[in-house]
Amino acid sequence: MITFTTIKETKAFVLEKKKEKKSIGFVPTMGALHEGHLALMRRAKLENDLLVVSIFVNPIQFNKASDLEKYPRDLEKDIKKLIPAGCDVLFAPEVGEMYPEEVSEQYHFGLLESVMEGAYREGHFNGVAIVVKRLFEIVQANRAYFGEKDFQQLAIIQALVRMEHLDVEIIPCPIVRETDGLAMSSRNERLTGEERKIAPFIFQTLTAARDTYKNYTPEKLKKWVVSKFDHEPAFKLEYFEIADDKMLQSVHTWDEHTGTLGFIAVNLGNVRLIDNIRFI
Ligand code: AMP
Repeated sequence: MITFTTIKETKAFVLEKKKEKKSIGFVPTMGALHEGHLALMRRAKLENDLLVVSIFVNPIQFNKASDLEKYPRDLEKDIKKLIPAGCDVLFAPEVGEMYPEEVSEQYHFGLLESVMEGAYREGHFNGVAIVVKRLFEIVQANRAYFGEKDFQQLAIIQALVRMEHLDVEIIPCPIVRETDGLAMSSRNERLTGEERKIAPFIFQTLTAARDTYKNYTPEKLKKWVVSKFDHEPAFKLEYFEIADDKMLQSVHTWDEHTGTLGFIAVNLGNVRLIDNIRFI
């Protein structure tokens, strides 16, 4: 595995490989790698000649300075996981390399960014779009792999690719969970022992909702989920939404022709966790 920290070196390497007609699979990450990330990488490696991974904790997608500060970082530990995952190139730039000047781009995603993560984390998706667009320009991948754990982010990136006519195929990958159901996340590392023990309550509640959804209207089911969290004081529910899988707008009836998911954001202690589950 080769590690690059500059855009110039990465671009030169990629250009060479493109000339040799090698296909490139790309997995952008913020590090603190876990099985969720590694599953994306293994798939990218299978489907392409070369696997490029980026590790960059993108400051402009954090709307809370404390969240950025506390984000786990351990490049040495990550590198040990990248090699067995088949990573050929690691791109791990410093902030000044990605943002030599003040950032001024402004992307607009309309309805897609008006809800959930877009509504609760101001500027978040603009920060995501800016970094992903820059990374795509550098890596020139044929395919880029994203987790459905961040379902709204995936929808935003698909919209970005359409809007900007980017020549990359976006490959959605299923959520990887711990054996107790908790969706894997770099943020799980920040849970205390006690919090980690109760964290599976999130997925348990989502599965219980999924198993009985037909007995309720979406509105009633939402109320049921909210009341479950009201009885668990360790959790502070930010939102639970039932929305379609294209524009992520609230649905008011179950329609078998409309892909529909439940989306949740919860604070457990100082850690903000998100998850989702498909109903239809
Ligand atoms: P992050 O490092 O959190 O920015 O995540 C990098 C990529 O890994 C994103 O496409 C995420 O959606 C994906 N990812 C993170 N956690 C999981 C998971 N538990 N299952 C599947 N994909 C994940």
